[in-house]
Amino acid sequence: MAEIILKPTREKSLLRLHPWIFSGAVDRVQGEPASGETVDVLDAKKTFLARAAYSPVSQIRARVWSFDEAEAVDGDFFSRRIDAALTLRATMGFSNRNSEKIVMNKPVSNAVRLVHAESDRLPGLIVDAYGDVLVMQLLTAGTEAWRETIADILLEKTGASAIYERSDADVRELEGLHVRRGVMRGSVENDLLQISEYGLKFNVNIANGHKTGFYLDQRRNRQRVGELARGRDVLNCFCYTGGFSLHAAAGGAKSVCSIDSSADALALAQENARLNDNAGADLEWREADVFLALRKFRDERRTFDMIILDPPKFAATVSQAEKAARGYKDINLLAFKLLRPGGVLATFSCSGGIDAALFQKIVAGAALDAQAQAVIVEHLAQDVDHPVSLHFPEGSYLKGLICVKS
Ligand code: SAH
Repeated sequence: MAEIILKPTREKSLLRLHPWIFSGAVDRVQGEPASGETVDVLDAKKTFLARAAYSPVSQIRARVWSFDEAEAVDGDFFSRRIDAALTLRATMGFSNRNSEKIVMNKPVSNAVRLVHAESDRLPGLIVDAYGDVLVMQLLTAGTEAWRETIADILLEKTGASAIYERSDADVRELEGLHVRRGVMRGSVENDLLQISEYGLKFNVNIANGHKTGFYLDQRRNRQRVGELARGRDVLNCFCYTGGFSLHAAAGGAKSVCSIDSSADALALAQENARLNDNAGADLEWREADVFLALRKFRDERRTFDMIILDPPKFAATVSQAEKAARGYKDINLLAFKLLRPGGVLATFSCSGGIDAALFQKIVAGAALDAQAQAVIVEHLAQDVDHPVSLHFPEGSYLKGLICVKS
């Protein structure tokens, strides 16, 4: 097996079970491993540290499959890891483990993240189940190398009818991989799949939607925000396909105004509204840039008693944090201005480069500059099917605050 030998002292993160080996930590590579090939990672004194997938062009030169020298990386390895991921979802009540197979149950939702990459000790592998169709993303050289094996095991263990591949994220280019999208196993008659979430129906476009089609990480937060919406005039910014909008409506909102810059997302949002008979509220959909729309509302003196801000990722890395911080400050400041006294702000950040403490500081600064006083009543995070490994804090990317303005 080819070997990666680290520079002296560069083994520290691996000893803490963090799964990434950066190119700068590598002293030399012995052998000529191909992209995605399994290599042993050794410290400068040649002591075994980990077994990893080699990625020759990425800054993250290798990602750890196992810290156990006795564990081979083969079909059985993927079978065990996928099994553990499925069992965890069953533990959290998202599915039933029926000895060999996993069975989706519907009370909460039949759309579940089954594998969450590094957090499930499978770096680069994302698998979401939409009913009995799996949508799989392979984001790294290592997962690409094991593509067929992973697909076979997923089908066998879930009993799913099909796998649709969405290996079309930009990060694949950093790994030197081409994008790939389409049905990989079984057949999918329609790109639109209907799912249920806390009693609401949503159509999910698995071919062209964001990520694998739906923001499953916000599931519980959508429901929670819905519970607080009764009687309120709600503004949902960055509404995508209407998730928060319809939950707010179902929760008894008086009106819901939803904004997104994507015409496709809004078209699907309106279709989702029809699927649920508008969930009993007065709904307004606007195609606009949120940064401009909020200013327009301010100038028109239009106000709301609940505002949801769930913007796209402004900063993937810490280096982009400053520019991102300005973006968050801007929209949160405007939201505090548009909120009536007693109004609720549900504000989120999914930027990896901004941690929860910094996000709270930004929101505090926004309130101050808006001359608003507010309290935090709840801290929110990604839903439980997006676990966070204690050894990979980067896996905790979604943070949210529910604030109430005085
Ligand atoms: N809250 C949604 C997910 C939001 S994803 C849910 O629960 O499903 C972020 C959305 O912001 C995307 O739909 C994207 O089209 C939209 N978006 C990105 N930049 C925008 C901008 N400047 N103004 C309005 N919408 C924007």
